[in-house]
Amino acid sequence: MTTLPNFLLNTLETIEAAGHSAYLVGGPVRDLVMGKTPDDWDITTSATPEAVMGLFPKTVPTGLKHGTVTVLIDGRSIEVTTFRRDGAYTDHRHPEEVNFVTDLREDLSRRDFTINAMALSRTGELIDFFGGRVDLAAGLIRAVGDPLIRFEEDALRMFRALRFSAQLGFSIDPPTLSAIWAKRHLAGAISAERVRTELEKILLSSRPERIAEVFYNGLLADFAPHPMPTLDSLGQVPAQKHPRWACFTAVLMDYSAIEPTAFLRSLRLDNKTIHVAGTAATLGPSLPAEPIALKHLLSRYGAEVLTVAAEVAVAYDRSEPAKALENIFQSGDCYSLQTLAVTGADLIAVGHPPGPVLGELLATLLNHVIRHPAANRRSELLRLAKTYTGKA
Ligand code: ATP
Ligand code: MG
Repeated sequence: MTTLPNFLLNTLETIEAAGHSAYLVGGPVRDLVMGKTPDDWDITTSATPEAVMGLFPKTVPTGLKHGTVTVLIDGRSIEVTTFRRDGAYTDHRHPEEVNFVTDLREDLSRRDFTINAMALSRTGELIDFFGGRVDLAAGLIRAVGDPLIRFEEDALRMFRALRFSAQLGFSIDPPTLSAIWAKRHLAGAISAERVRTELEKILLSSRPERIAEVFYNGLLADFAPHPMPTLDSLGQVPAQKHPRWACFTAVLMDYSAIEPTAFLRSLRLDNKTIHVAGTAATLGPSLPAEPIALKHLLSRYGAEVLTVAAEVAVAYDRSEPAKALENIFQSGDCYSLQTLAVTGADLIAVGHPPGPVLGELLATLLNHVIRHPAANRRSELLRLAKTYTGKA
């Protein structure tokens, strides 16, 4: 296993020197055991948040209620959380109270899956009460303790199981998997934002098609009416937010009567994604490859939406629109009023009256230029404007 970086060793040592225990825990331990470099560093400690704040010059009380203090050290940030035991759960999501405990084992036992419930000491000792290392080697997601109880406590864990399985390429241990099915009705207790975050992590993983498992396990009943989609094509679009959401939405539209914008809005996506992915989902599957038709669509929806729509078309086994679009971009052909060789002001200056008619005139000129790219010259367009209107 890789040795821990110095800033982390120093942090653990500072806490220990003050008489507390402290361990690296959760995601970063999982990453290190797998030979990956962690993105985030989490420490679990017997020290109270107040004590932690007293030990380091720069800290941020990021989640005091849950015992979390962010320690800023050597330009890095480390989340330090006091050993916890979660109190009774009332709403399948939040524990009623959080009690700080002194026992590491208790802290680890509240964690969701065995692979996330390991700790690593400063000296490199792996603390693994629940068989996380064996499950990691076997590629298994297994709940810590009775999965039925754990999903009853916090239904988000069902989504997390499927998400980790997509990110890591792991299987879900059969009792944990059947507990998801048994507790699927609790998915409705999870906020749409939380559901979206987990779905997006699956979509952006290297196994985006596994998002189908979320449907098969009955967790999306509130958002899309029981489709059984085949989502194998998702991996063919770039692993970016807009194309993956667009392709996912397009496939769902093939299977059920969802309205793309309403679907994305119900998952509380941001307005930009709702617009770009929603429009691209509608246009993508039957996107034309014919340049003039594409330029008309470009003038209406813009380059960003059309680029994503062309990526969706690829997932529908049609790569021609993407090539045609690329040719348009390379050619520098005009498809929007922004690059038309005359502006409204130019037309007014030569005597065309302002108002709605001017807008129509510009649209007519753009239509002409879309068909005849070489006509996008100021003198030529002013001449055409004159012939169209008989004015100026
Ligand atoms: P990543 O950050 O890569 O998504 P992670 O394992 O660090 O993976 P986080 O959501 O950051 O996941 O959570 C940190 C740790 O907190 C987990 O490893 C797990 O031990 C614990 N944890 C997080 N959410 C839950 C939960 N809903 N129930 C139980 N334990 C949880
Ligand atoms: Mg994390």
